Amino acid sequence: MLNYKLLTPGPLTTTETVKKEMMFDHCTWDDDYKKITLSIREKLLKLAHVSEPEYTVVLMQGSGTFGVESVLTSVIGNDEKLLICANGAYGERMGDIAEHAGLNYTIYNEHYENVPSAEKVAAILKEDPEITHVSMVHSETTSGILNDIASMAKVVKEAGKTFIVDAMSSFGGVDIPVGELGIDFIISSANKCIQGVPGFSFIICNREKLIASKGKARSLSLDLYDQWKTMDKDGKWRFTSPTHVVLAFAQALKEMEEEGGIPARSKRYADNNKLLIQRMAEMGIRPYIDSAHQGPIITTFFYPENHHFSFQEMYQYIKDRGYAIYPGKVTDADTFRIGNIGEIYKEDIEKVCDIIKEFLEQNK
Ligand SMILES: *Cc1c(COP(=O)(O)O)cnc(C)c1O
Repeated sequence: MLNYKLLTPGPLTTTETVKKEMMFDHCTWDDDYKKITLSIREKLLKLAHVSEPEYTVVLMQGSGTFGVESVLTSVIGNDEKLLICANGAYGERMGDIAEHAGLNYTIYNEHYENVPSAEKVAAILKEDPEITHVSMVHSETTSGILNDIASMAKVVKEAGKTFIVDAMSSFGGVDIPVGELGIDFIISSANKCIQGVPGFSFIICNREKLIASKGKARSLSLDLYDQWKTMDKDGKWRFTSPTHVVLAFAQALKEMEEEGGIPARSKRYADNNKLLIQRMAEMGIRPYIDSAHQGPIITTFFYPENHHFSFQEMYQYIKDRGYAIYPGKVTDADTFRIGNIGEIYKEDIEKVCDIIKEFLEQNK
């Protein structure tokens, strides 16, 4: 099979050295293995600019959604209420999770092109004092918009509520001062900006709030507190851990440090993103999100005017030449998406734009 690089927002293209780590079958109760888990947890706290004992980390088997579901179904008690801010499919998925679990919740839907408004949330909180928790997505991968978690955090904290952030596609690629903002639970996963492979999610938790959630979980396997209790002892996972994924992730963290940490990685992503948008503009292809709110992770593009090709045709043409792009996901416009995270550099962006240019010329 022809190899190609992923211009999708996770799983994404990883290094050979990250993939190679998975050639080893590690024993789960072995001390060396447990030490790897502990060191991963330590490094994640540092990336979030927080430390023990105020904050702690839980790793959870499964994809990113399992992490979000774990938090929402573990920390909101039967006598509490969640406000979900949604401006894309991942915000709406939180609504789905809440519905399935029978949580007491309300949802504030914002148009996909707009960031959720902190003023509106302040008003909702004032009107409905039953609300105890507020959740929101940082980088809405549906559109590529980067939501303003700083102004939202301020409002949520001033109201004395718990703040939950899905930073799945931004953590590590955008610097987030978790402690300074007072975020109580922030969720991401192994296969996004840290550039590991899929298999687990991680949650950075305010320790007091985590401890307060004891006994509230509606699910056994996704019980955030129980998972933490076991893992915090000596690094042993509660149930079978994704050993190969953990080894790959430890290597990915090491490579991230070697690259220069979040400052270097976020610059590379932002540079990729700027170049991509500029090259596409030269072909008359414009982004769906306004430049003021466009995030550096993934971009939704409108098709050029009067185009006569399908996404599948364009996708196949690009894939045959070494790159995989993403279909659009916004509901109100015909679009496609290109991600620029993972082991992707300026040369890749130039190359894929050359391929698209060639394709458009042939399909006028
Ligand atoms: C990737 C992603 C998720 C998790 O999706 P999974 O398919 O479960 O990994 C959740 N939220 C956002 C914003 C994401 O980008």
